[in-house]
Amino acid sequence: MSENNADAGLPNGWQLVVGLEVHVELATKTKLFSASPNRFGDEPNTNIDPVTLGLPGALPVLNKFAVELAMRVGLALNCEVKPSTFHRKNYFYPDLSKAYQISQYDQPLNVDGFLDLPGGVRIGIERAHLEEDTGKSTHFGGNTGRIHGSDYSLIDFNRAGVPLVEIVSRPDIRTAEQARQYVSELRAILVAIGASDARMEEGSMRCDANVSVRKAGDPFGTRCEIKNVNSIKSLGRAIDYEARRQIDILESGGVIRQETRHWDDSDGRTHTLRTKEDADDYRYFLEPDLVPLAPSKEWVEAVRLALPMLPAARRERLASATGTSPESEAVFVVVERGQDDYVLAVGEVGGDLSRALVHVQQAYAEEPSEPRVPASDLAALTRMETAGQLTATQAKAVLADIVAAGGGDPATIAAAKGFEAMDTSEVEKMVDDAIAAQPDAWAKYLAGEEKAVGAIVGAVMKASKGKADGKVVTAIIQSRR
Ligand code: ADP
Ligand code: MG
Repeated sequence: MSENNADAGLPNGWQLVVGLEVHVELATKTKLFSASPNRFGDEPNTNIDPVTLGLPGALPVLNKFAVELAMRVGLALNCEVKPSTFHRKNYFYPDLSKAYQISQYDQPLNVDGFLDLPGGVRIGIERAHLEEDTGKSTHFGGNTGRIHGSDYSLIDFNRAGVPLVEIVSRPDIRTAEQARQYVSELRAILVAIGASDARMEEGSMRCDANVSVRKAGDPFGTRCEIKNVNSIKSLGRAIDYEARRQIDILESGGVIRQETRHWDDSDGRTHTLRTKEDADDYRYFLEPDLVPLAPSKEWVEAVRLALPMLPAARRERLASATGTSPESEAVFVVVERGQDDYVLAVGEVGGDLSRALVHVQQAYAEEPSEPRVPASDLAALTRMETAGQLTATQAKAVLADIVAAGGGDPATIAAAKGFEAMDTSEVEKMVDDAIAAQPDAWAKYLAGEEKAVGAIVGAVMKASKGKADGKVVTAIIQSRR
């Protein structure tokens, strides 16, 4: 891959450097080291047990399925799965009742991978390691939801001990847009492999952005780590803000202090949270209650073989089948929703693939990933369209009925709606009548004012009660120029 020289549009030759740390909660039934349920949204402090709370004498037992999901993540990100160990990361915080988090330190499970952005830029993955989540504090009183200025805080330990994978990218990202693409592609991969539901709004996927700036060709500058970025949109905003903040400091002769900053979505700024702690501060040491984790070659290979097709490959497949660009919105959306197999099934039973793609994108937003409507019904609908028996607008209306009913014969529904195909000569006459009735609009159109044609098209649509095919109308109008 060539060097990533994408330009973030920063002033005076400044270049942006970003590395992302993404935490994802794994879709296990139980926690990483205990049998308590891993479930979001339950009554606070109901999914807990002595291990979760770190009560004296409680011992962790590693969840095998969590390891398997973590390996899926690593393999899908082209990492090497290696023998690994668990460490205690020691710090005090109210939502961490053990006063340490079990994490992986110098021997993580997955190392040295990469993720290719849809545009082709390759972002290195340093590591993807297993660790446990902390509990969750909620701060009340004050109006920021932050501990500062709050009256009291409540703690919910349901999340404590939920398995996480932390995916650490290399500092290969050069624009806010690439950062957004990275997170959305990563999200799509995690969902596709069943590792996580990866919902940023529910916190099952969380992203910290490390941001620095430098003059192109210089060594990397000092980075700040930005926390609390809760959506892909805020990620872009936070990076843009932070880059400009650092440039302002550097251009006025200051230096960047390495620190952790908090993104505030409401004022659109980052604020100092704490100066950066070092690994030394955490007094990492090997977790004495767990043995090393060394998945066998056979297990790793079995997990690799069982990986499903990844989103990028599925987009390619869908794009080439439907004759669309792999970067088109429709292809992205349909693959993201997991409806691409359905579109292909419509093709297999004789439907028009490109029309099927458009319909699935538009009509199946509310449907579960595998639509309930039999593929053969949608195939029949697209055939009526390509045969000129239905306009695109009519087909949409027929499909809405089919979707609502969970299936149906498009020809019957079209007939019931009075959608008979219009004879071209009939449409031609309507166009000529509309031109004759609006000589001013026609003259403007002939004089090059494209917009003026709207009045003619509108009149034809009205005269045909919406039955005329827009494409046919436009073609006839052009033939009259
Ligand atoms: P820490 O524990 O300090 O957060 P990690 O190793 O977990 O350190 O993560 C460091 C992250 O910072 C990685 O994503 C890495 O790509 C990124 N990074 C390292 N140096 C820079 C830099 N100069 N500018 C921007 N990002 C950087
Ligand atoms: Mg980190």
